[in-house]
Amino acid sequence: MNKKTVKDLDVKGKKVLVRVDFNVPLSKEEKGKIADDTRIKAAIPTINYLSENGAKVILMSHLGRPKGEANPEFALKPVADYLENFYGGQFRFIPSPEVVDEKVKEEVSKLEDGQIALLENTRYRAEETKNGEEFAKELASLADLYVNDAFGTSHRAHASNVGVASILPSAVGFLIEKEIEVMGKALESPDHPFVSILGGAKVSDKIGVIENLITKVDTILIGGGMAYTFLKAMGKEIGQSLLEEDKMDLSLELMKKAKANEVEILLPIDVVIADKIEAGVDTEIVDIDSIPEDKEALDIGPKTAELFADKIKDAKTVVWNGPMGVFEIKEFSNGTNEVAKALAESEAVTIVGGGDSALAIEMAGLKDKITHVSTGGGASLEFLEGKDLPGITAIEDK
Ligand code: ADP
Ligand code: MG
Repeated sequence: MNKKTVKDLDVKGKKVLVRVDFNVPLSKEEKGKIADDTRIKAAIPTINYLSENGAKVILMSHLGRPKGEANPEFALKPVADYLENFYGGQFRFIPSPEVVDEKVKEEVSKLEDGQIALLENTRYRAEETKNGEEFAKELASLADLYVNDAFGTSHRAHASNVGVASILPSAVGFLIEKEIEVMGKALESPDHPFVSILGGAKVSDKIGVIENLITKVDTILIGGGMAYTFLKAMGKEIGQSLLEEDKMDLSLELMKKAKANEVEILLPIDVVIADKIEAGVDTEIVDIDSIPEDKEALDIGPKTAELFADKIKDAKTVVWNGPMGVFEIKEFSNGTNEVAKALAESEAVTIVGGGDSALAIEMAGLKDKITHVSTGGGASLEFLEGKDLPGITAIEDK
């Protein structure tokens, strides 16, 4: 993928409309406070580059699902407060229930070079998620250039990404540039051995990823809830573990496909079992052939973790999507943490995609030791599935 980036634009004195991902989690205890500012921080390099190079920066984002109408519950005010605190007088919030109106246009026209402004939640307008032409035109009318740096929504064709990109000269920001550079290389021309670790709850969520990776990788390590559908299909007793009965045939087909592609698939050889998914329950480690009928496997066992870590150690490229167990609960987090550690210690190019997997890496405090933790949940999955992301496709090529 050879997309124009902000560095290919002459931004001095220009109004640059930037789609960022400020869809941040808000604090449940303290109204108007941001619970996690990772996404804002991730957008700062692009914002600073534009501002330092003399652009008038106009930021836009969605927040939550206001369903196409102005709703103070989803106002970007908490983000505006954060940016005001961060940039001081250089920053201006220009909110309107219409997102763009005459007053907003006037305020934008008063911006000085280097100033940074934020519009109101783009999903206050019903046209946003329908990629409505009128709304896209209104947004585009505010600026000379468009930059997309919201990877997390790039798998959707909305007015604020695809719509405006079809009107204004466009480029990607640093965040999207890194996403497509690192993940793109892994999928197009990876260094081998290429190992992929797949987990998470369901096979059905990951079919596309498995099918795409099966033609590219050397080894697939399967853990998480999805492993038990594979194991059951192979004739194992899985007790009360997660099962998608209608995906058993598909699992066997995927195993066959892997074999035809000379891809090695490894499944758990031991597991952590319990009566129920609950903190504080009694747990037991058993071999994969010894899951009792009334128990549920909720994490990979230590032997499996070691087996997986060994494979990761020898790899040159590692792509991980999906936790190995119910990592949210301490009793079932060990397998996920061990795999996270193996990635952190590896010399390979390591990539983590998926919302929960990214969270698990963060919780383990190992984010800095991973080559790339993708910032988009759904978007990184679709990227790993080999799909075109419309928000990126819409940007001009170099
Ligand atoms: P990602 O967001 O990284 O793509 P998923 O959403 O597919 O990952 O899966 C994450 C969820 O899978 C977590 O909530 C976790 O609790 C659940 N999970 C993992 N292993 C199991 C298991 N053995 N049984 C039930 N749920 C599991
Ligand atoms: Mg998830």
